[in-house]
Amino acid sequence: MSDPLQSDSAYRLETQAIHAGTAPDPLTGAMLTPVHQSTTFAQDGVGKDRGYTYTRCGNPTVAALEARLGELEGVLPACAFATGMAATTSLFLAVLRAGDRVVVSDVVYGGTVRVLQQVFDSFDVRADFVDTSNPEALRTALQEPARLVFVETPANPTMKLTDLRVAAELAHAAGALFAVDNTFLTAALQRPFELGADVVVYSTTKYIEGHNSTVGGALLCRDEELAERIRFVKNTAGTTQAPWESWLTLRGIKTLPLRLERHSSNALEIARFLEGHELVETVHYPFLESFPQFELATAQQRLGGGMLAFELRGGVDAGVRFLESVRLCTLAENLGAVETLVTHPATMTHGSVPPAQRRAAGIHDGLVRLSVGLENVADLTADLEQALKEVAGGVPL
Ligand SMILES: *Cc1c(COP(=O)(O)O)cnc(C)c1O
Repeated sequence: MSDPLQSDSAYRLETQAIHAGTAPDPLTGAMLTPVHQSTTFAQDGVGKDRGYTYTRCGNPTVAALEARLGELEGVLPACAFATGMAATTSLFLAVLRAGDRVVVSDVVYGGTVRVLQQVFDSFDVRADFVDTSNPEALRTALQEPARLVFVETPANPTMKLTDLRVAAELAHAAGALFAVDNTFLTAALQRPFELGADVVVYSTTKYIEGHNSTVGGALLCRDEELAERIRFVKNTAGTTQAPWESWLTLRGIKTLPLRLERHSSNALEIARFLEGHELVETVHYPFLESFPQFELATAQQRLGGGMLAFELRGGVDAGVRFLESVRLCTLAENLGAVETLVTHPATMTHGSVPPAQRRAAGIHDGLVRLSVGLENVADLTADLEQALKEVAGGVPL
């Protein structure tokens, strides 16, 4: 039997997504990695274990997921976490010390802002939120020492992009580590390590698992010492991913490249539909020619991904009416799965970000975010069209 953790890096992404990190079970021949739903592993003698002792510190099902994520990204096996926020928090715990400063994209996942401003602030860690889409702003911010530069691209929810190659160079020139939250695109559409990232952060809750069934997270890196430190923090703080969640995530990943292609083609078609609609003021989607960073998008990303945001004429009232009129699309907080979801960032995902900071980051009260799923795109467009008709009926333009 082949070693389940052997390197599959000779294979291409679609093949890795299905096979990397797993092999038929040596005991039974089971095709799929079993769910090792066990806290504890018997030892062969005093000080003699078979690589696993206690599931907080390691579990074979979780290890298979970690190996697969590492292969997809072309780096060391990942460290899997209970949630995306457990991954982000564990990264901060692993690399930041009291007195440190972290430079963060001004538009990021709301939880990342919250953990820095309302948890790490009391440990004397300072976070500065900077428009990392503007290299000059990042260069200026890095004139003061920083331990870590943390960016998200495309940014949630405005889709603003950061040039990863440029940001990596600036971070490294300033002696900072460079981390990228790659949740929106995944290794299938964007390759941060090839552009200079030191760490990649995932909420596997989103596209990686892809079916709205689990919460999970992961950190990836290529430096052994950093990987060791991250694993130590995970074992110590107990931010561990569970075996059943890992099993579901391993299954979800098999179709990751395929899903992201369809998420992207559906999203592009919907973005074009919205852009042509008289009630829509602006559409933010990286692969639209009208997107201000279209050239960077097509250079840095393989496709546009499944996320888009738009603003309706008629502001908040129109936005709320729209959100309450969709039928096939679901009003919900999550993103990145097969079902199409609509979100109102100002009250939902980014409700805890201070209003002034939110508006400065371009998250206006009328902004609607769409996580485009894998339903038939004509059905989706028809649903959006009927919801827009409801808006037209209720709001004077
Ligand atoms: C959802 C999300 C997170 C946090 O992940 P959880 O699994 O919800 O803890 C972090 N970053 C981005 C970009 C996300 O979308």
